Amino acid sequence: MKKKENIDITALKVMKGIEMPSSVDENAAKRFLQKKRRNIDVNLLVAEILDGNKTSLSTAITLIESVHPKHRQPAEEIIEKCIPFSGKSIRIGITGVPGVGKSTFIEALGMYLANLGHRLAVLAIDPSSQQSGGSILGDKTRMESLSANQNAFIRPSPSGSTLGGVARKTRETVILCEAAGFDIIFIETVGVGQSETTVHSMVDFFLLLMLAGAGDELQGIKRGIMEMADSIVINKADGENIRKAEMAKRQYQNALHLFPPTESEWYPRVMLASATKNTGVDLVWKTILEYESHTKNNKFWNINRNRQAKYRMHETIIDSLKNNFYQNHETKVKIKELEEKVVDGKMSPFAAAKQLLDNYFGNK
Ligand code: GDP
Repeated sequence: MKKKENIDITALKVMKGIEMPSSVDENAAKRFLQKKRRNIDVNLLVAEILDGNKTSLSTAITLIESVHPKHRQPAEEIIEKCIPFSGKSIRIGITGVPGVGKSTFIEALGMYLANLGHRLAVLAIDPSSQQSGGSILGDKTRMESLSANQNAFIRPSPSGSTLGGVARKTRETVILCEAAGFDIIFIETVGVGQSETTVHSMVDFFLLLMLAGAGDELQGIKRGIMEMADSIVINKADGENIRKAEMAKRQYQNALHLFPPTESEWYPRVMLASATKNTGVDLVWKTILEYESHTKNNKFWNINRNRQAKYRMHETIIDSLKNNFYQNHETKVKIKELEEKVVDGKMSPFAAAKQLLDNYFGNK
């Protein structure tokens, strides 16, 4: 299900998807895991992943995404075994409002790269599914040619109750995809909520897709997102839109000049593209490669990755502590009682939190 708001105006529109081919169909992998009630052969799966087998990769990702407790341990083992073979890809985040052309653009760029001999994986983080149960990006791939290309692997957003949970699964999936030999990883997200910050924290290069003439407000793009962008692409620069796109390019270039210099010492570019006419895609790729060599030269590439790894460690700790705290039986019982006291004004939120934490940590 797609959200409708903002979509009927100007060039913003969303297209329907196609069914997933079986190699990327997570349900097929789920059925596989359920049907064969045998023990999961971790070593075999890892060997097949390292061999670039997309079906085994899909199965392993399904294990990562599974909420079944018996899947967690094999999933962790697979990740640990794949880690030594990971890290060698360029991780690219792509964001923009629904209808801006993310899927079409990724498909155009993806086909271009696949034809150059690259192997690319397209993952997604969909912040809507945890809020409404529906999804903006949809559970169908909209990248028809790319999903049929042997050099490409497309996986829709994992579902999850928190963005943190979804993000963790995606991070683990990146490791597996890299171990399977994918040298370019795209992570797509919708320009709403917190998901851009999440995606930004797991990629090397962050690309913002925009439209000319739609207005920043309409596109819901916050200044903070523009500040995070390593480049902006104005998509749909075709037909009658070209002149407007050129004007928008100048405006965004001026806007970006006002931002303080970034730690990477990279000056974000503004580029024009037409995903449907296949123009500008090569320039975007050239820019990403330039960014890679620029930041590898000045060491920012590694600084950023190391920072992301540390962040990941702390995030995992916080996630586990939080889960453990809220799953704790005593906490569950006490929390209701204290919530009521807080609402009735009998206790301050701080005192209630302190009491719950003291109980949990045993310093009563
Ligand atoms: P997403 O929601 O951001 O993934 O957007 P989609 O890729 O689904 O594209 C939304 C609509 O815009 C579709 O009807 C596309 O055909 C159309 N579209 C995407 N890119 C372009 C483009 O470069 N030019 C034009 N004219 N239309 C485009």
